[in-house]
Amino acid sequence: MKPRTASVHKGVYKDKTFNSVTTPIYPTSTFAFEKLGVNKGYDYTRSGNPTRTALEENIAALEGGVGCSATCTGMAAITAVLFYLQSGDHVIAGDDIYGGSYRVFARAFTKMGIKFTFLNMRDLNAVKKAVNNNTKMIWIETPSNPLLNIIDIAGVVAIAKKNNLLTVCDNTFLSPYFQKPFEFGVDIIIHSTTKYLNGHSDVVGGAIIYKDKAVEEKTRFFVNALGVSEAPFDAWLVLRGVKTLAQRMEAHQENASAVAQFLEKHKNVKKVYYPGLKSHPQQALIKKQMKGFGGMLSFELDTKKVALDKLFTRLKYFSLAESLGGVESLIESPWFMSHASMGEDALKASGITKETVRVSLGIEDKDDLIDDLTDALKG
Ligand code: PLP
Repeated sequence: MKPRTASVHKGVYKDKTFNSVTTPIYPTSTFAFEKLGVNKGYDYTRSGNPTRTALEENIAALEGGVGCSATCTGMAAITAVLFYLQSGDHVIAGDDIYGGSYRVFARAFTKMGIKFTFLNMRDLNAVKKAVNNNTKMIWIETPSNPLLNIIDIAGVVAIAKKNNLLTVCDNTFLSPYFQKPFEFGVDIIIHSTTKYLNGHSDVVGGAIIYKDKAVEEKTRFFVNALGVSEAPFDAWLVLRGVKTLAQRMEAHQENASAVAQFLEKHKNVKKVYYPGLKSHPQQALIKKQMKGFGGMLSFELDTKKVALDKLFTRLKYFSLAESLGGVESLIESPWFMSHASMGEDALKASGITKETVRVSLGIEDKDDLIDDLTDALKG
């Protein structure tokens, strides 16, 4: 089954009572047993719910995994996966990952005795050197948020396999439509479904997708034990959104490519980060592991010519907001907003500056977006 068909037809639980075409929402906290020990496969919604199961089957099919847990946020998915570890374990992660991931690693899991090394993951030698006797996991986020650096998934997986380490890939930025990390050997994929999988900025959610049953069994236990599974209504919203993933991703990408080219020529823009530009320095890797470039870009604004806030307040179609992946275009400052919790030193180390601007391209008409930016970028 091709991805477009899978988006629409995988994980559809039709109601037989009235022959609905779509999966109903089951807003129930509990399920009655027919007699002791006999039920219809569900007992309590934290542990399982048919609407959530439908979404999980859909996302598992899109990523090519054996199963999926839909969680209440992307951070909940990340948290459940980290429960794989115990005190004394060591994790290697990129130094320009999503600020919230950095925060939960550096400020919550370190309190539980887990150690982290954040490094430039494009440098596979640095990854190799960072492995020690306690290393258990390598955390990959590619393209990275917000600088769109590309990590060699197969290269990292090779190091992990040699050292018996678990690999996790945050595939939020490209979605399974443009990148399939299981094809390169990772063990677990996570998503903030808040972003492209849902695509309409009207729900928060996450997903953990498993390559094999042993990993699934262990992680599912934590999703239930921690109580971080997704509510039925939220799961239903994501399931509705995911049906148009392919069409939206193509539209996001068309707009991002056009806007990236426009920005690259603009005199008040110093640099543009977008994998679809020829100026992106990792062309071979992009070709090898990505099926598209996605709808996210960042750029360095020349703030001597246009102040950051002037740009933001002049724009009509780009909301000044965190998050990404919705049908409407968003713009923000990673330094002051999405990544602020990293702290100044970590921000500097990752290459984010006060002039870095991150843009999530929506699916509006690209000419309107470029006209809007043309006006807002006037010196
Ligand atoms: N991973 C990435 C790449 C993200 O951008 C985000 C949120 O922005 C998350 C994870 C966390 O997801 P959520 O906000 O749904 O908890």
